Amino acid sequence: GNSEKTSKIGSRILVFVRLRPMSKKEKEAGSRSCVRVVNRRDVYLTEFANENDYLRLNRLRGRHFTFDASFPDSATQQEVYSTTTSELVEAVLQGRNGSVFCYGATGAGKTYTMLGTVENPGVMVLAIKDLFSKIRHRSCDGNHVVQLSYLEVYNETVRDLLSPGRPLVLREDKQGIVAAGLTQYRAYSTDEVMALLQQGNQNRTTEPTRANETSSRSHAILQVAVEYRVRDAAMNIINRVGKLSLIDLAGSERALATDQRTLRSLEGANINRSLLALSSCINALVEGKKHIPYRNSKLTQLLKDSLGGTCNTVMIANISPSNISFGETQNTLHWADRTK
Ligand code: ADP
Ligand code: MG
Repeated sequence: GNSEKTSKIGSRILVFVRLRPMSKKEKEAGSRSCVRVVNRRDVYLTEFANENDYLRLNRLRGRHFTFDASFPDSATQQEVYSTTTSELVEAVLQGRNGSVFCYGATGAGKTYTMLGTVENPGVMVLAIKDLFSKIRHRSCDGNHVVQLSYLEVYNETVRDLLSPGRPLVLREDKQGIVAAGLTQYRAYSTDEVMALLQQGNQNRTTEPTRANETSSRSHAILQVAVEYRVRDAAMNIINRVGKLSLIDLAGSERALATDQRTLRSLEGANINRSLLALSSCINALVEGKKHIPYRNSKLTQLLKDSLGGTCNTVMIANISPSNISFGETQNTLHWADRTK
């Protein structure tokens, strides 16, 4: 309610949009592009094919959006990484937690952005590479211990993607909420990481009817923790930990209405609870509320120490250019616009 509201301005969440190229399938289906990204900032959306009237029409129709940055379909993985995530990697080395989410409909490019391919590795791999390179450039690099965990939240069940098996139970301990028994992989170099993450991604839950496709309802969370020793003012050695969470979210197509009041009825319709709970937490953070409803889902419990407060939060909204996906693209852009 209103009593939860405070006068201070809410957490600032950086919001980016990435347009993916038209796929072969979309081209073959005769679809046209309904999105334009201009000047690495502005996104224009139109239902019309009239190329000349594009910008004018969209200004009139109020389908013009501006974000912290917007990436056209020609943007490289490296550009997306540098603009969205490299500062968070720097902050992790100062002991400050952060999280980066990819949000959008199934097929919009979330997994490509987060994981990428062997030829074009995504944010997860580039972040770890950058982290190792930054550690190497510090004088006391022997100090740093890098640990990776990779898990899935599917239908409110938590599974270890690095060591598949029984569901994991969430426990509250001194460090916060942890998945009991989750593999912590000690990483020494970037080389081993891509294969590890690809394998982990293959362990994500698939729909029984489409055994080769990751379920659109699966969230994948990679957490990179860096522990190191520093001396405090009294020259005592203290341990510090910084953690970066990189999240490939479930498809947003069935979570269009994110209003708290309708949460219960939507659950009946089998809407993704963790995705809705994340939306609620982000809305509460943006509005500067004191109470953030982390407890409502597994995803938000797991990210409690990496979302809000002094943490850096980044959202990358992925969209398709095809007019076939117009409705989903519009929903994603409106959601991203409200998150700014
Ligand atoms: P999602 O994870 O959101 O369901 P994917 O990341 O699997 O979507 O992307 C769908 C398809 O589009 C994949 O074949 C992927 O390789 C391709 N794709 C997505 N984004 C890009 C991009 N920026 N450049 C090239 N191909 C892309
Ligand atoms: Mg995916």
